[in-house]
Amino acid sequence: MTLASDLASAPNTPPIALRVEGVSRTYSRKGRNVRALNNISLSVLTGEFMTIVGPSGCGKSTLLQIMGGFDRPSTGTVATAAGPVTGPSRDIGMVFQRPTLFPWWTVEKNVSWALRCGGIKRREALRRSRELLELVGLRGFETAFPNELSGGMQQRAALARTLSLEPSVLLMDEPFSALDAQTRELMQEELIRIRQVAGTTIVFVTHDIREAVFLGDRIVALSGSPGEIALELTPDLPRPRTREVMRSQEFLDAYEAVWACIRDQARRASASTRAGMRQGDEGRTT
Ligand code: ADP
Ligand code: MG
Repeated sequence: MTLASDLASAPNTPPIALRVEGVSRTYSRKGRNVRALNNISLSVLTGEFMTIVGPSGCGKSTLLQIMGGFDRPSTGTVATAAGPVTGPSRDIGMVFQRPTLFPWWTVEKNVSWALRCGGIKRREALRRSRELLELVGLRGFETAFPNELSGGMQQRAALARTLSLEPSVLLMDEPFSALDAQTRELMQEELIRIRQVAGTTIVFVTHDIREAVFLGDRIVALSGSPGEIALELTPDLPRPRTREVMRSQEFLDAYEAVWACIRDQARRASASTRAGMRQGDEGRTT
């Protein structure tokens, strides 16, 4: 297992696709400031599959939204090789937890529409959307409407639509968490296959440690309240991944390292909450 600090100095490191530098984000809620992210710095390498894992509420979605230009950091910067990220662009694709397809259009139209918006002619857009639907395993469902598809198939269609824009970085926010356990496992393997073919750089957010270790070339664990990088590691697992790796010692070690880190953080957070409550109680009795 390699820690990220070793990776930074490794020779032949691929170029950086997306750089997050000193990013913090504070929300203002009911007159109170809530710090969601604190001083996050990381570099996503070209062709890398990075997973970001952490408990619910630790700031994963906030970080991804900032990476995609959908939200602005309170301090810090985000940049791709093309320059600073100041808003959403075709260069950075996003797949959300729930597929966001237009229900009144066929699957094929949902994908070709994205291509048409990018200035591609109708016939070419249709040809490319069929290719992409084949890539994501939806051949034969081109003319189906979203509500005729299962959740997993809808997520495949949403992925095809995002890939159609050929983003240099694909951001995925817990894309399989609404799926049943079997479909979810299938989709993880499918994503590995699709990524193998398309060669896309991926940042994948999840609260599931097994999923994070199974998919990630590099795993970034966030602690909560505010979200900070608690651990980065690069397990030495074979590619392309198959479920066999889950039985390897390297996988179990990586899983344990992430789990220990998140468990420690959670214990500390709950101890400080308890201390805060005790102080509050003492305050009330005096
Ligand atoms: P995660 O995706 O890890 O579950 P989020 O990024 O959604 O976490 O949220 C991190 C923290 O920021 C939470 O405390 C959440 O309540 C807060 N937060 C997120 N979005 C907003 C918002 N638009 N306004 C106020 N607080 C927010
Ligand atoms: Mg989230």
